Amino acid sequence: MATIRKLDIHTINSIAAGEVIERPASVARELIDNSLDAGASVIRLSIESGGIKKLSCEDDGAGMSAVDALLALDSHATSKLVTTDDLFTLQTLGFRGEALPSIASVSRLELRTRRREDDEGTRVVVEGGDKVFEGPHGMTGGTVVICRDLFFNTPARYKFLKSDASERGAVAEIVGRAALTRPDVSFRLEHDSDSKEILYSPGNNDLLSAIYAVFGSETAKFMIPVTSADAPIKISGYITTPDGARHNRSRQVFIVNGRVIHSPVLRAAADEASKTWFMKKQFPQLVLNLTIPGNLVDINVHPQKSEMRFWDERAVFRSVYHAIRAALEAGGKINETELTSVESHATNAIKDDHKSGVVPEQINETVVPKSTTAQLGFAVDTQIQPPSILREQTNEYGNGERGELVSPPADEKVTNRAEITSLTGARLIGTLFDTYILLDDGSSLILIDQHAAHERILYEELLLRHQENASERPAGQVLLVPVRVSLSESEMTILDEDRDYFQHLGFEYEPFGRREAVVRAVPMGRADGGSTLDPTVALRAALDTVATARTTGQTVDDTEIYHMMACKAAVKAHDTLSSDEIIILLTRLTSLTNPYHCPHGRPVALRFTRTELEKHFGRIV
Ligand code: ADP
Ligand code: MG
Repeated sequence: MATIRKLDIHTINSIAAGEVIERPASVARELIDNSLDAGASVIRLSIESGGIKKLSCEDDGAGMSAVDALLALDSHATSKLVTTDDLFTLQTLGFRGEALPSIASVSRLELRTRRREDDEGTRVVVEGGDKVFEGPHGMTGGTVVICRDLFFNTPARYKFLKSDASERGAVAEIVGRAALTRPDVSFRLEHDSDSKEILYSPGNNDLLSAIYAVFGSETAKFMIPVTSADAPIKISGYITTPDGARHNRSRQVFIVNGRVIHSPVLRAAADEASKTWFMKKQFPQLVLNLTIPGNLVDINVHPQKSEMRFWDERAVFRSVYHAIRAALEAGGKINETELTSVESHATNAIKDDHKSGVVPEQINETVVPKSTTAQLGFAVDTQIQPPSILREQTNEYGNGERGELVSPPADEKVTNRAEITSLTGARLIGTLFDTYILLDDGSSLILIDQHAAHERILYEELLLRHQENASERPAGQVLLVPVRVSLSESEMTILDEDRDYFQHLGFEYEPFGRREAVVRAVPMGRADGGSTLDPTVALRAALDTVATARTTGQTVDDTEIYHMMACKAAVKAHDTLSSDEIIILLTRLTSLTNPYHCPHGRPVALRFTRTELEKHFGRIV
């Protein structure tokens, strides 16, 4: 039997290293933390072979005295923790005093450091935990830590390192996260061989600049601000609109009290809040800073402090959810679309129109009775309008003058309100292919997908009624005449077994014979109890969703069911709408919080700006 021995200090350190140091990126993380704790404003990292051969971190922070420099490489030496009580109130990033000795035990580590007030600096070199050099060193104030040949003495760990490129990627991710966490500090990551820059952030204390530096302009340009100051959780940051969606969540950065945190709660809140804005399997990019009072979180649940326990998970969820929803609602806008060249097609169309001298059939003639217009705020013409192509040639621009052309609004960031006003103030031109509603808002042509619009309306109304009634059992809308729906046996079983759930959605029904149900109430859509959902369509949609969930073993989600009902009950493409119906549709659409995307995240409306059109007609260049 083996005898029990006390472990020597090297072994202890290298065990500690195993806990914290897995790869160059973990070294980078610890060194950056130390530099930040030392109050650095510029941090420069340089790597060779993904940081395996060499990773150095230089800062302009406070530096250390000669005595402290030696002490820092001793296990459990830290300047940051004096009593165990400090553990719970600590603001600095590191506190266990084991990062430097851990790294030193598994690499060749060089520390050069100087406090500004000292005459000279200190240089210490440690190899595999053994000090091999110690002496004075000429340098300016700050600290440089160089870690060479990581895991040179622990082949078992070396074996687990990935390719240089993938280690480099991991280091870049750590530096990027740090830059996003501390926009007030300038970070630079470069290749050691030629000083070529991998990442650079300006440190101008502007989060959007840091996002630009880390994720690039393509991300930054779709970012809209998120803020919420509801006590006790403060939130600030940015999220992309659906135009900046990605297929995974790799660019979702949650920072809690200055630490990047991986948290299922935060991720779920972001998913839930952005679900109806983004297409299925697409996710927003975001950087959110949460400030939560220290007594409501527990950071000591993970050796790398990258996870956190919230004492009130629901409150955190709600705060993030509402902040993101509010941001998306405030930042929503109609997708602007660029025209592609359709030269030959367009020329033919114009020629044909000239020949026949009639209005093309696509413009729906039944659209525009006068009576309904004024009170609804839509400037609908009584006359059938010729298509814009012809009208512009003959009337407005007949004089050939270009001076009157309206330039696009200088400010590209149109607010939600302004967008909605542009919809309500728009003139109805007609419909196209019985599928799109065409509007002219004075500076652009707006196309609205009638199905997507209606679906969005029904969905939001269902959801809203449901949320209003969430405390009690949602009162369905009682049908004047109950409706009989014929069903399969398995559907009858679902209705029987999941009766509570269907009631919770707003359905009331009872079986009628073996293969029919009598539906007495359906989920309520409009607040005024106005138009009712077709009971058969609604029940089938709900049944389908529940049935699918049963076979795939997934849990059903109310929003999914309402979504399905809305989709099934909405007008379809190619349904001819009367002008009254169009106007009601537009009025309801503009009262929504998110009129611009259907519940799948597809756009409801597209905008072709006048400038864009005029460019294509060669009126402007
Ligand atoms: P911890 O950060 O947990 O205290 P470390 O092993 O990372 O433990 O560092 C030990 C000590 O060395 C720190 O408490 C700090 O006083 C000092 N130190 C490390 N890095 C730096 C640095 N870049 N600038 C100034 N002091 C540093
Ligand atoms: Mg540290």
